[in-house]
Amino acid sequence: MTPAGVSATAAPNEVSAEAGRRRTFAIIAHPDAGKTTLTEKLLLRGGAIQLAGAVRAKGNARRTRSDWMKIEQDRGISVATSVMTFERGGLIFNLLDTPGHEDFSEDTYRTLTAVDAAVMVLDAAKGIEAQTRKLFEVCRLRDIPIITFVNKMDREARDPFELIDEIEKTLALDAAPVAWPVGRASEFAGTWDMLARHFLPVDADDRSAITLSGPDDPKLAELVGAERAAALAEEVGLAEAACPEFDLEAFRQGTLTPVFFGSALRDFGIGHLLDGLARYAPPPQSRAADARPVEPGEPALTGFVFKVQANMDPNHRDRVAFVRLCSGRLVKGMRLKQVRTGKQVPVNAPLFFFAKDRQVAEEAWPGDVVGVANHGTLRIGDTLTEGEALNFRGVPSFAPEILRHVRLEDPMLAKKLKTALSQLAEEGVVQLFRPLDGSNPVVGVVGQLQLDVLQSRLKVEYGVPAGFDDTMWQMMRWVTPADPGSDRAALDRFATTNRRDAGEDHDGELVAFFGSDWRRKRAEEEWPMLRFHAVREQH
Ligand code: GDP
Repeated sequence: MTPAGVSATAAPNEVSAEAGRRRTFAIIAHPDAGKTTLTEKLLLRGGAIQLAGAVRAKGNARRTRSDWMKIEQDRGISVATSVMTFERGGLIFNLLDTPGHEDFSEDTYRTLTAVDAAVMVLDAAKGIEAQTRKLFEVCRLRDIPIITFVNKMDREARDPFELIDEIEKTLALDAAPVAWPVGRASEFAGTWDMLARHFLPVDADDRSAITLSGPDDPKLAELVGAERAAALAEEVGLAEAACPEFDLEAFRQGTLTPVFFGSALRDFGIGHLLDGLARYAPPPQSRAADARPVEPGEPALTGFVFKVQANMDPNHRDRVAFVRLCSGRLVKGMRLKQVRTGKQVPVNAPLFFFAKDRQVAEEAWPGDVVGVANHGTLRIGDTLTEGEALNFRGVPSFAPEILRHVRLEDPMLAKKLKTALSQLAEEGVVQLFRPLDGSNPVVGVVGQLQLDVLQSRLKVEYGVPAGFDDTMWQMMRWVTPADPGSDRAALDRFATTNRRDAGEDHDGELVAFFGSDWRRKRAEEEWPMLRFHAVREQH
């Protein structure tokens, strides 16, 4: 499937070796927990090869920034999911960034479908917060292994036992401390490595671990004082007795998280965390597709689109599709099959985020993410192959939490609005619902910022000024029969009975809107023959 002269297919052992060197991960955190600071420190530590923020315009072709890019600038936040690649100890780390603002969007969720592991950053004084939990739930859908980093140990923190207990209770995840803090807050002196059994002083670099016979080694008292040493010995004894031991298998299955303690701001514990990522986080794994599972070492290329970004000249409607590679090798000039349509997609100028020695890379491997420019052909959830008909599962839609009616300022533009909304929904900017009672279309988003982006793009790119009106709904669910064979009638009955609170999504699937969580629960009780889903896999 490649033009003459472009040899794409690599030897299977080369593909396996390159895939085996990749660690593709994301950082999940509640705003302010320290994700940005940690990211910077990881990149510094790893020797970032290239920082690819929003996809940059190529060459000298300067492009007009559309309004939504201005939103990005004005608010100082990144609408774009960016890819940061760094190399350390022979491994290549792809860190897929997720918008670090309270106004996060569906991109944040979808990015998690493209990673093989996640680092969960907790503020030591706050523990698990609302957004940590939401993001964790998305990771759990795919059993993504999670490494926990308890940050801000240089400040007043909660008791480590309490934090571990909270992780276990609120996330139903075993938590195995692999580091233990020595001293607290201003008395924080470093960490005890529970596995390697050495002490890492807070002001030393990562290579200066001090090997001791155990936490009760008299040498420790000399280093940190008798009081802190005694407290550590007691706590480590307790932790060893009461907390689960680190178990690689359980971690890889997503049922146990190793817990590191440190301070991103003080650049402490970062090396330990990186070692943990290198050692424990999995390289690309076998991925489920409808036809068969795909192994990363397979020579033929496969990948899927997890994000589409329109960042270029609004008049040209250019798009960049972010493709996560799952097998094979990507080189410039390949032609790939878009399985959904059967179309051939030329990949003439892939944006490689990985560039060694500041040279632009010419190839990418499983675990890497590349940007493919297109004119709207590629959609979120699309699978690309060298010809085989298979579709990766699992780029999901999440039930939006903000639902608004679209208000058109000029009724003459109704048709244009319809087209625009439909295109933007396909791109994944918002989710679009058509109420069954024929009222104005409803848009659904996960974060308020998505609405601002939608409004500005409708105006700038489509010339359709529009506003949003509140709906009386607070949540929605996809509705399916409990038993697809027999309960179709129940679905129709539900739709008829609830015409005013029901609609269809962009693919014609039935959705129900609810004014409160209590109403949702009632509907579930009243309609036992139906299922109400907060997540739906995209076709
Ligand atoms: P994000 O919103 O999760 O990206 O968080 P930031 O990295 O922007 O950090 C939020 C605030 O916490 C900033 O003021 C940081 O300087 C501060 N911060 C981050 N890490 C630490 C840490 O380890 N110790 C202390 N004391 N402050 C930190």
